[in-house]
Amino acid sequence: MKTKVIIRGLVLKVASRCNLNCEYCYMYNLGDKTYKSQPKVMSQEVVIHLLMRVKTYLTESGSKTFAFIFHGGEPLLVGYDFYQNFVRKANELLPASIQIIYTIQTNGVLLSDEWCKVLGSLGIRIGISLDGLSEEANRFRLDHHGRSSLSATLQGIANAQTSKHLKYLPGILSVINPNINPDDLYKKYKSLKIRHINFLLPDGTHDNLPTGFELEQTIFADWLIKLFDNWFEDQDRDKPQITFFNQILNKILGGEGDFEYLGGGKNINLIIETNGDIEPQDSLKACGNGFTKTNMNISNHALEDSFKHPLIKFCIDSQETLCGQCQNCSVVEVCNGGFITHRYDAKNGFNNPSIYCKDLERLIHYISIRVEYLLIYSSNKNIKGNEFF
Ligand code: SF4
Ligand code: SF4
Repeated sequence: MKTKVIIRGLVLKVASRCNLNCEYCYMYNLGDKTYKSQPKVMSQEVVIHLLMRVKTYLTESGSKTFAFIFHGGEPLLVGYDFYQNFVRKANELLPASIQIIYTIQTNGVLLSDEWCKVLGSLGIRIGISLDGLSEEANRFRLDHHGRSSLSATLQGIANAQTSKHLKYLPGILSVINPNINPDDLYKKYKSLKIRHINFLLPDGTHDNLPTGFELEQTIFADWLIKLFDNWFEDQDRDKPQITFFNQILNKILGGEGDFEYLGGGKNINLIIETNGDIEPQDSLKACGNGFTKTNMNISNHALEDSFKHPLIKFCIDSQETLCGQCQNCSVVEVCNGGFITHRYDAKNGFNNPSIYCKDLERLIHYISIRVEYLLIYSSNKNIKGNEFF
């Protein structure tokens, strides 16, 4: 029987421009230039169209939760009104029985106390992009004049952490910079009282490798292993949750779950561009100019219509289309070929292992061995495995 595909939520490109110009940004700097033909911000007309489509989807699918992730570009470039109108309209149009989760992913530069007040009053959770606490760690996160974004982002984080209007502390999204010390980074993030961190591998494809990256090395695994050791051995109950590690552990222990960094799954987030275009996973923009274009728009297509588009269909089925090397790999049940974008080249399409294959294999093996050792130790000491995580 075919597994039903569930749309978990929509990533809304509410602004197609950004006040930063990060070197590794797949929106602007990895080959796709289609943002130039997008409206700079999402209009209210597009908002109404997409909410009507979500209403129909929720009524027909029986889903109990749905997520809106406000994204860009930089989503704080649209005014307060956008979010106030959006949530008001969503409350009017969407079934009250559905739990709607709102999140905004911002670079934090504009995150003032007033913004925290507005977002908090609307129940919008905040994720902030930051690659560490030093200029070196953030050297790829510069503005359009080549100036550092670090101090403005740190001020944004401080505003969010001290705001009395926010129900949830902000999470952090960090692109890994293997030149910085992971032991030091872990301590610094903890001292900032960060509770949720998602570490990402820099985006790239086999045709367009990340700056300074070499396929045969495992510098990212080496870095992540040091970070893992810090985290795994930290007995503090308030230690940060690190999504990457939680998901690997979950999969090693036989858990379910769709994590796009580990091959994704049947359940997806769709992208809605500022003009209402429906697109797959936005980092696929790194595969070439116009790569994510589907010629589908929420003004004339239902959300599920997009499942018929070859690229979106491929994303949904990505775990079933692994290359021979992945199919025969000892860690495939955890890795699933890695993140779909990292599998691509123009010659073979997605019929490749991840550019981070060696890193993923080494990291997953390492974590598996640590978990195995711990489970043997805990069974001898009559300790439950989950007391350690
Ligand atoms: S802040 Fe985000 S959207 Fe803006 S340039 Fe940097 S990575 Fe791209
Ligand atoms: S470790 Fe490499 S070969 Fe194994 S599943 Fe992941 S990408 Fe494929």
